[in-house]
Amino acid sequence: MTAITLFDLFERLSSLMRMWHRQHPLLADLQPIQVSALIYLSRCNRYSDTPLGVTEYLGLTKGTVSQSLKVLEAKGLIVKTPDARDKRSVHLQLTDTSRTLIDSLLPPTLLIDGEARLAERGPQLTALLAELLVEVQRSADVPSFGLCATCRFHQHVAGQPFCGLTQEPLSQSDATLICREHQAHEACVSA
Ligand code: SF4
Repeated sequence: MTAITLFDLFERLSSLMRMWHRQHPLLADLQPIQVSALIYLSRCNRYSDTPLGVTEYLGLTKGTVSQSLKVLEAKGLIVKTPDARDKRSVHLQLTDTSRTLIDSLLPPTLLIDGEARLAERGPQLTALLAELLVEVQRSADVPSFGLCATCRFHQHVAGQPFCGLTQEPLSQSDATLICREHQAHEACVSA
């Protein structure tokens, strides 16, 4: 018998997650891509909450993502706000409804419970998967979308987080969000 592979495990876990999404009454009428876009927008920072950011993160075509964002907007789950400096650019924000929904859903209980049953091996597994993700992203040469606090541009100025790339101050909560401009330190795990 052929041994189960990492690919098999990811496939099965992914299908269980999709099943879990479909079973939620408020997510049942959303396509998986629309759910993924909402989850991304709930986790990303102000430099990443654009249609392009969603497109790059999901690795889909602009047209597909654009259609999905239109549906989310029509359902009152996201709002578009013009960028204060560049009126051609828009930021996408969750509405109160979708923020409450996502906060109540994530992380999925099936994952929390499964990880809890692994006891001390749970954090070990997370660290290993994070390493695997970094390796895959490096070899595929794709953006890391890592946590701001782990970025090589993340600094502290006068005791406050500061982005060395954009030269703008960050809030404490910004440090916990993911960013499309993120660049890992050489020896750092990015997500
Ligand atoms: S420090 Fe890095 S991750 Fe954080 S906002 Fe700046 S570029 Fe993005």
